[in-house]
Amino acid sequence: MLLKFSTWSEIETYLGKRQDVFIPIGATEQHGPFGLIGTDAICAEGIATAVGERDGVLVAPSIQVGMSLHHMKFPGSMSLTPQSLIGLTLEWVDSLAAHGFNQFHFVNGHGGNIATLGAAFSEVYLKHPNVRCLTTSWYELPPLQAATAQYFGDGEGYHGTPSELSVSFFLYPEQRRETQPLDDSPLVDDQLYSAADFRRCYPDGRIGANQHLADPKIGEKLFGIAVDAVLERHRKWTELK
Ligand SMILES: [Zn+2]
Repeated sequence: MLLKFSTWSEIETYLGKRQDVFIPIGATEQHGPFGLIGTDAICAEGIATAVGERDGVLVAPSIQVGMSLHHMKFPGSMSLTPQSLIGLTLEWVDSLAAHGFNQFHFVNGHGGNIATLGAAFSEVYLKHPNVRCLTTSWYELPPLQAATAQYFGDGEGYHGTPSELSVSFFLYPEQRRETQPLDDSPLVDDQLYSAADFRRCYPDGRIGANQHLADPKIGEKLFGIAVDAVLERHRKWTELK
């Protein structure tokens, strides 16, 4: 159930039964030579939407731009500052809490958002003591980690990974890029402080990821595993209340 395809009276009925809502959050940042800039937002939105359909949970509009300052030396990347992402998260929650929503499950596609979301939740609880927030980074769920280890081994890497590319190409097959030969992407033993450091250490944008392994058929399997795992986590969390 998507908020954008609902009417106000349908939301009023929904709130009479339950007060939980998914908020997909991703990023708009470079994903190496063959990954889409929207990969993190595409995966988070796709997974949250499917979970919402399965269990009838409302899905709010996605946060498509996240905390990606470290990718800003690659053309097309966009970022919020941490302060802006905290403010935006708070206002997403404020808007919906005003109507009675009180469980906000952020389905996250980007590691760079996690610390800032945690800080935002502290602000949320200060203002809304009865609200509960949860972040689920889909790629970190144990069944996903097991599956990616099985399919991709060390080729999974850390950024622009074959698992996220596979899911994005499963969801948007027409956007799949043909891969060309690439040099290995060694893990640089160096401290990354700035966006310039990132580009110097990882010139094509990947971190240790073998993007040749990306495959929409594997993406379909990973997507199914992610939907099941997020749904199970959501059910357990909402039962606690
Ligand atoms: Zn990503």
